[in-house]
Amino acid sequence: MSGCLFCKIIKKEIPAEIVYEDKDAVAFLDIGPVGKGHTLVCPKVHSENILDIKDADLKKLIAVAQKVTKAVVKGMNAQGVNVSMNNNRAAGQLVFHTHFHIIPRFEHDGLQHWPHGKYAEGEAKAVAEKIKGNF
Ligand code: AMP
Ligand code: ZN
Repeated sequence: MSGCLFCKIIKKEIPAEIVYEDKDAVAFLDIGPVGKGHTLVCPKVHSENILDIKDADLKKLIAVAQKVTKAVVKGMNAQGVNVSMNNNRAAGQLVFHTHFHIIPRFEHDGLQHWPHGKYAEGEAKAVAEKIKGNF
């Protein structure tokens, strides 16, 4: 899609440190890494995020993401790895081309996980009902 930063990287119109590419997807180093080896995995077909990507494209993407995750863990000698996705602005998405973040993790690397809350009595059931009604 014209104007999309990651489509430009996929078309090699702007440079990136590409670590893997096949017919379906490209993986390259995040320019502002959470930690060394932080890699992004993008489908070649443009979609915005998990909410609009076609089922077939997502299946291919997750298979590539697993392959890239294994290579990142091995290459960086990581002790763990976060595979995550930001979907829409409210969730922190900045680039509206679907991508997984692959973030190598180490014991005591100092990164904080998001805080956990609590449900009030009976609230979890009501919340679950809101979700269950949408399949
Ligand atoms: P998100 O917030 O999930 O949309 O993440 C977008 C990510 O893209 C951020 O972590 C940025 O550091 C990264 N990014 C932005 N521009 C580039 C670029 N030209 N090459 C590589 N990564 C980039
Ligand atoms: Zn795009």
